[in-house]
Amino acid sequence: MAESEVPLPVPDERSKPFFEGAKRHELVLQKCKSCGAVLWPVKFRCDSCLNTELEWAKVSGKGKLYTFAIMHQVFHPGFADKVPYNIAVVELDEGLRVTTNVVGCSNSELRADMPLEVTFEDLSEKVTIPKFKPAE
Ligand SMILES: [Zn+2]
Repeated sequence: MAESEVPLPVPDERSKPFFEGAKRHELVLQKCKSCGAVLWPVKFRCDSCLNTELEWAKVSGKGKLYTFAIMHQVFHPGFADKVPYNIAVVELDEGLRVTTNVVGCSNSELRADMPLEVTFEDLSEKVTIPKFKPAE
């Protein structure tokens, strides 16, 4: 990988269902078989009831902007042409929060609680990642 390229996530055995879902443009997260809590990042047991029986399930992909920051500093050369970009925490309708980027609007349009929905960015032939955009 050239130093000027954005580093890509490397799916492993545990995160494979998440990345396979993203490839299909579906947001797929772990769900507790006992209490139904939706979990992220990849867990070995449920945060709520400690049950270890988890399954992967497609979630709504809808949520709202919980908080965000605007990055102006280039911490990796791959992001040199991307600053300023946002790092956002989105609260999904399922109740959990995920760290992501909001696309499809300017950084100055970002507001806490704005409704968002998932969208997908194909970064390479193998890796697609979910991001969020203003809900229609
Ligand atoms: Zn549970």
